[in-house]
Amino acid sequence: MSNCSLCAASAFVCLALIAPGSARLSAQNTPDDVPPVIDVHVHAMTESFPGGGPMCPNTPKFLASDPDTKEAPFGWVQEECTPKLYPAKKGEYLKDMAAEMKRLNVTAVVFGDPASVKKWEEAIPGHVIPGTSFEDGMAPGKRVALDELRKDFTTGGFKVMGEIGLQYEGISPSDPSVDKYFALAEELDIPVAIHMGTGGSGRAEITSPKFRGSMGNPLLLEELLARHPKLRVQVMHAGYPMIEEMLTLLQANSHVYVDVAGLIWSYPLKEVNRYIERLVDAGFEDRVMFGTDQMEWPGLMAYSISIIQNADYLTPQQKRDILYNNAARFLRLNKKDVTKQ
Ligand SMILES: [Zn+2]
Repeated sequence: MSNCSLCAASAFVCLALIAPGSARLSAQNTPDDVPPVIDVHVHAMTESFPGGGPMCPNTPKFLASDPDTKEAPFGWVQEECTPKLYPAKKGEYLKDMAAEMKRLNVTAVVFGDPASVKKWEEAIPGHVIPGTSFEDGMAPGKRVALDELRKDFTTGGFKVMGEIGLQYEGISPSDPSVDKYFALAEELDIPVAIHMGTGGSGRAEITSPKFRGSMGNPLLLEELLARHPKLRVQVMHAGYPMIEEMLTLLQANSHVYVDVAGLIWSYPLKEVNRYIERLVDAGFEDRVMFGTDQMEWPGLMAYSISIIQNADYLTPQQKRDILYNNAARFLRLNKKDVTKQ
């Protein structure tokens, strides 16, 4: 979603090739020497997000700014990198994404309104798991009607409810005003994907006045989980940077998974790797899912996968779990797909 950790970031880029794994995959329509990947966090943009430009991922720092000057809407330091990630040309984003997802053997949970998700399904058949929107359009606080969501899940083929971006409204996920949405997800046995953690892009005072870092605290999910003990939760952005709170929640609740979308390419690379390593070292290697927060630069998916592939602190099996097996289990894909790859 536009109000995620998306940023005009600028940093050093080291694009690594995706190394073909030794295990063969069973997925169809894909190159048979590339092991399958599930990206659990993609937005159903049909064009590169307007207003963006070339981007240098894994920005090394944020900068202070003075309210007495004209301040940039993002606080990321602007540094050159080679190569940058570029938005698609007008009218070519979906075509570019289709080519990338086939090349990289990616199946993605694509969140959006039904018409936009359908365009993705048509552009990349067999590679899209449909996810809903939570917000109705771009107006803050306007939500998709509950009965529309019920229809999406019962007859529309949608599989995940997301992206639930309450943090941008300064609202806790356990707030009673949104409980009916989670009650519906629990009733229909649909997993929910909730934005927790990242945001603000170093200029929340300017661009997102309602955003509250404190409302991304993973422990705010506790009341919600207690109220809905069967609810399956995907903590988007893994509650970054609140690692202690995230681990506390994971230790107490086994229906909670995390995705590393957004954070994996937004923050300093050493910090990103340390965060993922903490999650794995603490014993949660079966609940970390790969994601991008893809919405603008077609090259972002390959870049983000390369960070997991190049992580020297992960075993080959842990990489496969993060890139595929954990999401397949969370989403309850067919048994044959969940077979260890
Ligand atoms: Zn988000």
